[in-house]
Amino acid sequence: MFDLCHRLEHPCGAILIAEEALYSSSSTVLLESMRKQPTWSDLPVIVITSGGRQTPESLQVFQTFRREANITLVERPFRKVTLISVLEGALRARRKQYQMRDLLAEQRQLHDESTRQLAIIKASEEQTRAALLREEQRARELHSLMETVPIAVWVAHDMACSRITGNPYSYQLLRAKPESNVSLTGPQPHTAALTFKAYRNGQPILANDYPMHRAARTGQPVWNEEQDLVFADGSVVSLLVNAAPLRDAGGKIIGAIGTGVDVTDRRRMVTAVQQREARLQFVLQAAQLGTWELDLITGRIQVSSQFKKLFGLPEEAEITDPEQFRSLILPDHRARVLDVIKRAIEETGEYECEYPFRRPDGTIRWAHSKGQIIRDGSGKGLALAGITSDVTPRKQAEQALATQLERLQLLSDSIAYLLRARNQSEVVKGLFPKVAQHLGLDSYFNFMVNPERSALELHTCAGIPAEVAQKINRLEFGQAICGTVAQTRQPIIATRIQESNYDKADLVRKLGIRSYACNPLIVGERLVGTLSFASHTRDEFSDDELQFLQVISQYVSIALDRLRTEAELQALNNRLEQEVAARTAKLTESIEELEGFSYSITHDLRAPLRAMQSFAAILEEEAGPKLGQQERDYLQRIITSSHRMDKLIRDVLAYSRVLRMDLSLEPVDLAGLIRGIVQSYPNFGPSKADIRLEGEFCPVLANEAALTQSVSNFLTNAIKFVPPGVRPKVTIHSELKGERVRVWFKDNGIGIAPEFQDRIFHLFQRLNRDYEGTGIGLSIVRKAVERMGGSVGVESEPGKGSHFWFELRCAPASDV
Ligand code: ADP
Repeated sequence: MFDLCHRLEHPCGAILIAEEALYSSSSTVLLESMRKQPTWSDLPVIVITSGGRQTPESLQVFQTFRREANITLVERPFRKVTLISVLEGALRARRKQYQMRDLLAEQRQLHDESTRQLAIIKASEEQTRAALLREEQRARELHSLMETVPIAVWVAHDMACSRITGNPYSYQLLRAKPESNVSLTGPQPHTAALTFKAYRNGQPILANDYPMHRAARTGQPVWNEEQDLVFADGSVVSLLVNAAPLRDAGGKIIGAIGTGVDVTDRRRMVTAVQQREARLQFVLQAAQLGTWELDLITGRIQVSSQFKKLFGLPEEAEITDPEQFRSLILPDHRARVLDVIKRAIEETGEYECEYPFRRPDGTIRWAHSKGQIIRDGSGKGLALAGITSDVTPRKQAEQALATQLERLQLLSDSIAYLLRARNQSEVVKGLFPKVAQHLGLDSYFNFMVNPERSALELHTCAGIPAEVAQKINRLEFGQAICGTVAQTRQPIIATRIQESNYDKADLVRKLGIRSYACNPLIVGERLVGTLSFASHTRDEFSDDELQFLQVISQYVSIALDRLRTEAELQALNNRLEQEVAARTAKLTESIEELEGFSYSITHDLRAPLRAMQSFAAILEEEAGPKLGQQERDYLQRIITSSHRMDKLIRDVLAYSRVLRMDLSLEPVDLAGLIRGIVQSYPNFGPSKADIRLEGEFCPVLANEAALTQSVSNFLTNAIKFVPPGVRPKVTIHSELKGERVRVWFKDNGIGIAPEFQDRIFHLFQRLNRDYEGTGIGLSIVRKAVERMGGSVGVESEPGKGSHFWFELRCAPASDV
């Protein structure tokens, strides 16, 4: 304390002292020093007080000090800046006191030099006047500036800021009466007229916390504080407010000055931009889109955190070098992606690309990137910017679909192959390479059941050396995997065989196989074998691969069944054919015997008949005149019957000739043949009938003799079956039917009822006993034409004539 007092005798700044120190006994020394201060000195003393434990004695001491010293109280607790600003204020005041001291000293000097003093005063008066003029000018300028500037300027005329006035713009801004008091803490009548309330960050501003109030209270300027004025009508004006304390010449705060700039529009724009940005961020995040930008000037990249997330990079990873990103793309795709980027930069301006990449954790995923060039006003590309999304699920779905399609294709190819397969060993052998390639398998084993030895025998296999195959060419039921599958008729899937201790897999483990899927081959109820697919490199099968192998095994079973059935059928067929051939041979032999027999009988019948005819004729000739009427009549009947008998025998012979003779076919000129018949038979001559050929006749493939027989039989009937007294008229014409020709014989005869039209082509069928006949003629025609590969028929109505026809193949024109 004494040291402090000593210092007080010399020029000093200010005293900063704790309240407790004042209550000590030595404080009287300090009080004494204070009292000794010169008149110009008003030493600022800053007392840090806690205001807590005040006794009457301490209050007494404090009051005494207050009277003697210029005390400023700073209450604990206090902010550092508060103390600093109080100290600054104190020091400023102190500085002014020293200036005063110096001025007094100067004045004393001036007094001493009165002459010079007068001159100086004069000069100073002039200077002062000039300065006043300048000040006035500046004041005017300032005034007009205040009148016009679109910035609100307020002045608080007291430390409590209870009276605030401003420039015209400030009234306009606050919608208040010009010249009125716009202090929100002013006396009632004024504040009642104000229609706004002030908010900061959405909270009402407390009375002593308005920027100007704060500046006046703390002595500290307030910089760029944003506040919203909410008016009674709900409209909001956003202000950027600055405030500073106003001090008198002595540095004492006498009020505050404040400025306000209307930033409503700017704020709105900022808010809109922020909202847009927030929305964009939301969308990007929701869609899990990463954004990126490649600076075309510096070659650096900038990526969003979503982008890093997408590539499995930590949030804090610094990605600025494109190479960091490039190294994530799978090597096979890098050149392509770079090429697309290069083309976007140099040509198209647009970039779109899909590529697989590897995350740091090793997983492989697919990205889809889309971007475009951002240009400056002159069109120069500044950056390539865009978005990237993870399209792995879609890619996986596409790949799954492609695999499914490939698998379906393989299945349909397999079915086609299995349908074509001609023998059992072909079935699996031909199928395996395709299935193996598709599933990445390298071996297969096809065991077939040997029913006699009730064991499995290796039928075909691949992917193991022949000598090893030799060793496993036989498996008992229940032995190893295949034997167990055969025994249980259930598939067995063995995976990770090399690490497993599955005893049934010992055999395949020794062969170095890692995974093995064995399915039974079952045909109907019968087990025919097993089919196993295996891999020396893969440890697992996926579910759908197993399903696929099962389906393939079922197909193989079906194919094997088909081959077995086909073989059985073939054997049956062969047996049947042999039987049929044997029976046919026997039958032919019997028919030939019968035909020969009937031919010889009919032939031999003619000899006695001819004898009967001859003797009857002789008898008629020699004994005729001697015989009575009745005897002659008997004799005549014998002759007629023998003729009929002869005709019958000839017809039967003709029929059996048609059956027996070798009907070799050759082109026959049909029109020529018919004309020849008409001309050479007297019965068909113009005296007996009108027979006409109409139109063209193409040559036919026929046997000339059989065809002559058929045509003359048709013509004979056409002329015969006419009503008595009617002259027979026959027209013959042909009709082409593709490669065949139908030849029509139209007559004007008695006609045939439809129900008999089929019958008349069979042996001995006669419809009318009024006409002579044997009922064999049409049978001969039918047999002959059928043996020449043709057909016969009739269209007719009783009383309207008949249209008989036969149809034969046309002969190639060049052959005639
Ligand atoms: P046939 O002439 O010797 O009686 P067919 O076999 O030639 O023997 O004829 C069988 C029967 O068909 C004849 O009896 C006759 O009733 C009938 N028929 C054949 N041709 C004609 C025809 N052009 N018009 C009417 N009926 C016919």
